[in-house]
Amino acid sequence: MSAAVLLRRASDQGVMITLDAGRLHLQASAPPHLTLVAEIKENRDAIIAHLSRKQHPETAADWKAAYAEKLTQAQADDALPSDKATARAYMCVEMEWINQNPSASSDGQCIGCGGHASADKPLIPFGLEPHLRWLHARCWLDWFRGRRQVAQAALKHCGIAKPW
Ligand SMILES: [Zn+2]
Repeated sequence: MSAAVLLRRASDQGVMITLDAGRLHLQASAPPHLTLVAEIKENRDAIIAHLSRKQHPETAADWKAAYAEKLTQAQADDALPSDKATARAYMCVEMEWINQNPSASSDGQCIGCGGHASADKPLIPFGLEPHLRWLHARCWLDWFRGRRQVAQAALKHCGIAKPW
């Protein structure tokens, strides 16, 4: 079980786990289930590593840790075979990289071709707030392919190779 799943399970049972000066701190409204306590003890190091990890990966080590975590999650929690788990983990960090490294977009302009919106070719938003990118529907595929290539090059630089 990955640390993320264990933390979610704890939270479902009303147990908050936080990190306090490098030690796990448990807070619960009622005594936590013994099985949960045992699981937390067993996975203490993984939980500390998970909670210490930055919310947004920055360095190559952060990205590798994020990738390793997605891989564990895909293999252990979702029980995917090795090749599918690797592909899933890679796609997760690739999307995360794209979302965290937004390309600039100016209002009313397609980020793909630089053109404007018209009645027959409206601009469609893509991405997450506050980094929405606006594109024509037909420009999206080429633009997204380009973004994926940039993400893949950056991840390769961090030591994470494309698994296919
Ligand atoms: Zn366009």
